[in-house]
Amino acid sequence: MKLNIDEFGKWCDAFGPSGFEQEVAKLVKEYTEPFADEVLQDRTGSIIFKKGNKGPKVMLAGHIDEVGFMVAGISKDGFLAFNQLGGWWDQVLLSQRVVIMVRDGTKINGIITSKPPHALSAEDRSKVVTKDKMFIDVGCKTKKGVEALGIKMGDPIIPDATFELIKRKQFVKDEDSGKFKEKEVTLAVGKAFDDRLGAFIISEVLRKMKEEKIEFPNQIYGVATVQEEVGLRGARTSAQLIQPDVGFALEVDISGDVPGIDKTKYASEMSKGPSILVADNSMLPNPNLKHFVMDVAKEMGMDLQLSIIRGGTDAGVMHITGSGCPSLVLGIPTRHIHSHYGILDVADLEKCIDLLIEILKRLDQKTIDSFTKI
Ligand SMILES: [Zn+2]
Repeated sequence: MKLNIDEFGKWCDAFGPSGFEQEVAKLVKEYTEPFADEVLQDRTGSIIFKKGNKGPKVMLAGHIDEVGFMVAGISKDGFLAFNQLGGWWDQVLLSQRVVIMVRDGTKINGIITSKPPHALSAEDRSKVVTKDKMFIDVGCKTKKGVEALGIKMGDPIIPDATFELIKRKQFVKDEDSGKFKEKEVTLAVGKAFDDRLGAFIISEVLRKMKEEKIEFPNQIYGVATVQEEVGLRGARTSAQLIQPDVGFALEVDISGDVPGIDKTKYASEMSKGPSILVADNSMLPNPNLKHFVMDVAKEMGMDLQLSIIRGGTDAGVMHITGSGCPSLVLGIPTRHIHSHYGILDVADLEKCIDLLIEILKRLDQKTIDSFTKI
C-alpha cells in the first residue's frame, strides 16, 4: 500500500488549534470514514473510527489539534494581543506569519511584530522578547479597522506554514566496513505534525487493514482526539466513552539529531524508524506491554528507538481510564516541533503503520490479560 502523503499534507495545512478543530476534523472524517465500520463522536469533538465488534477494545489516539494562539485583546492603534493555545517558546515567534479565523470562517493574515535592530539598545539586542510584549499586526491603524475585519477577542490563530515534500540523500556509515552507504529519503516539511501525523497513522492503518482484509482479534477504536495541547482533554472524554482495555498514543517524538539538543537525553533520531516512549510526564507505560511491542518489532526485524519526552501525551489519560488501561506511546522522531516548521522522514511513518498493524494482529484477550497478571 502506498502512503497517501498528499492527504497528510492537506491535514497539516488545515486550520485547527486546540478547541477549534472543526476544519481539520472534517477532512479527517471524510477520508477515514470509508475504512471504519462505524463512526462515533464524543462531545468535546473527538472522532472515533470503530472497526470490528468482537474481543477486547484497543484505543488508538492521535490528536488533531495544533499549537496556536487566541486573540486576547485589540489595542487602540489596531494591534492584537494574543494568548497561546499549547506551549510556544518566545524565541520562535518574532516576525512570523500567522492566520486568524473570524466567526464567518474568513481567514486573515497577520505578522507578529518585531523591532528593527536600529530601534533596539545594545543590551536589548541580546535579550529574548517575551510573548506578552508581542502583538499581531494585521495592517490596521485603529481598533475600528480591526473590528471592520470581523476580528474579536477569542478568535483562534495558527502559524502560517505550507506543507512540502523534499528529497535528500543520506549517507549512513556501515559499522563493519566503515564505508558510507547512500540512501535517498523523502522528508516532509510543514506545521502541525504534532499531532496530525498520529491521526494519519491511525487512518492509514485502518485503510490498509480494510484494503488487505487483515484479520485482528479485537475491536479497534481509532480516535482523532481534540484539545491535547491544552491538557489531554479530548482523549479523556473519548476514553471514557470507549472504556478501552489497551491504549496507544501515536505522537511526535523529539528528534535528538539537531545541534544543541542533548543526545544523552533525546536519543531518538529522524530516519531511524519509530520510537516508543519509556516514560513521559503523564504516564509510565505498562512494562509488559512495552516489552510485547519491542518483541513484535524484533520479530519484524525493525529497529525500534527508545525515548523519554518531558511533556504529556494522550496516553496520560487513557492509562487511568476506568480501572486502568495498559498504554504505550509510539513516536515519530520529528525535528523542530512546536514551531512554524517541523521536519520528518516519511519512511518513519510507513514503518510505524506496519508495526502498529502487526501489534493489532496479536492483541487478543489472553495477550492483553497477560500485561496485568501478577
Ligand atoms: Zn505538542
